[in-house]
Amino acid sequence: MAARVFVITGPSGVGKGTLIRALLERVPELELSVSATTRPPRPGERDGVDYHFLSDAEFDRRVGAGEFVEHADYARHRYGTLRSELERRVGAGAPVVLEIEVQGARQVREAMPESVQVFIAPPAPEALRERLLKRGTDDPATVEARLEVARGELRARDEFPHVVVNDRLDRAVDELEALVRRELVPAA
Ligand code: 5GP
Repeated sequence: MAARVFVITGPSGVGKGTLIRALLERVPELELSVSATTRPPRPGERDGVDYHFLSDAEFDRRVGAGEFVEHADYARHRYGTLRSELERRVGAGAPVVLEIEVQGARQVREAMPESVQVFIAPPAPEALRERLLKRGTDDPATVEARLEVARGELRARDEFPHVVVNDRLDRAVDELEALVRRELVPAA
């Protein structure tokens, strides 16, 4: 079976992380690529597990060395997918999930047109603010910065071949799981 790369994108606060955790439980052969970021760890986040936490200088060095498949600035911090993360998994034949924002998804689309791109949309734009505030991981200024970015990201929805509306978690996970399983079936 050919290894596949699944790009799951959508605005911050739409619930990508929660959906992906549920997806990984249902489809255990999927592996999540651990991104690099310059943002500080949130309480409970572990280096090398949730992210590779890098200084700005180290991030720049790795950009210069061509170590990223894609990278983007997002709400005052930098995020990127390390080539090593992806190649190790794809090389071992594992299907890989990338949880990334829209600019990064566009770069992966260019570099790997065979990747499967899924946009997670909120049932209504107001749902994002509620979720970001309820999550409580960001101060109000950061929430506003993220919402500003999210408004632009919502307009990117039509660029994506697959859109899953995160209206109810279990229903959205069902839809995402079905989509992933369809793509994992080897072509006859
Ligand atoms: P957070 O700071 O909430 O963990 O992530 C902020 C945004 O960055 C989210 O939309 C998340 O999906 C995105 N993100 C996480 N890792 C990457 C990455 O490797 N590349 C890109 N382009 N975006 C990422």
